[in-house]
Amino acid sequence: MATPAQDLNQAAPARPELSVVVPVFNEADNIEHVIARLTPVLERCASSFEVVFVDDGSSDDTMGSLRRANAADKRMRAVSFSRNFGKEIAIAAGLDHAEGDAVVIMDADLQHPPEVIEQFVERWRQGYKNVYGQRVDRETDSPMRKLLSERFYYLFRSFGETSLPEGAGDFRLLDRQAVEALCAMGERARFSKGLYAWVGFKSIGVPFEVADRAHGTSKFSYRKLTRFALDGLMSFSTVPLKVWSYVGMIVSLFAMLTAIYFLAQTIVRGVDVPGFASLIVSIMFFAGVQLLSLGILGEYIGRIFAEVKRRPLYLVAERLGPEGEEIAVQPAPARHRQRAQA
Ligand code: UDP
Ligand code: MG
Repeated sequence: MATPAQDLNQAAPARPELSVVVPVFNEADNIEHVIARLTPVLERCASSFEVVFVDDGSSDDTMGSLRRANAADKRMRAVSFSRNFGKEIAIAAGLDHAEGDAVVIMDADLQHPPEVIEQFVERWRQGYKNVYGQRVDRETDSPMRKLLSERFYYLFRSFGETSLPEGAGDFRLLDRQAVEALCAMGERARFSKGLYAWVGFKSIGVPFEVADRAHGTSKFSYRKLTRFALDGLMSFSTVPLKVWSYVGMIVSLFAMLTAIYFLAQTIVRGVDVPGFASLIVSIMFFAGVQLLSLGILGEYIGRIFAEVKRRPLYLVAERLGPEGEEIAVQPAPARHRQRAQA
């Protein structure tokens, strides 16, 4: 039967040395393969380990696969969400639940080769706290997606207030210190890549080649990617908010010059054709600028609204741990948990 949360804490076995967090969304076919390739690697490079799968509201048999994996090997844990919250939030939940001294984050589709983890761990033992996989090519993405993501990173580099290392993604190892820092961030619009860079710590890249997706198709639609890009830019840059005062200044200056020009023309040549065209053009132009800047304000205000509601980041429906099925109590925010343990 279900065990109360407090008992779970007391009875918890010793913390594993290494945790691996895997967000999964409709990946039933991949789980078995991931475990088969991951387990030998982890057994080689860590004294003890756990794998935390975060089921992001899958509608296929992902949970069934995870239940079988947990029954066969108790080091395979799982947290399942009440619905799809998105990969970024799944990673946040994985970090909340991972107990290892170091935590590796990887995709379930084997695009992140598990063997690279050995190099991550080596770097970690050398004292690095933020070891990121650096993809050496983007060959596996469609040309359209490649182009858009290049544009996005160009924008981020120009306007973002945090600099992102080239080619770094979610595939990485984080030391407990960095994990605690990330868990303490309560933001809803989570752009993990920016957050990893923001927390800092001694960092280093490990190059790896992105493999082809093992089974299934990408779980990211262009709509999801657009949301992701906007979240990223808006959480790490206030330039879109500030740029409008400069645009406003330039436009007003231009308007003033035009006014002077028309005045001079009227004095010299008298009123000829009433300025119909220029009037319409300027009205449309200013209306456009105003709507655009209102839109930008709206984007930021929408995000502020989402943050002030202080809803939990995610809801857990089910949990599989070392004792098998566990009662799904919603986790307290990271800060409270730390205090409770202290
Ligand atoms: N994923 C997730 N929630 C989502 C979308 C994706 O947890 O809403 C997981 C997915 O199961 C996979 C990882 O995030 O483990 C990367 O997704 P995918 O391979 O589809 O992305 P891509 O490689 O195309 O960037
Ligand atoms: Mg993938």
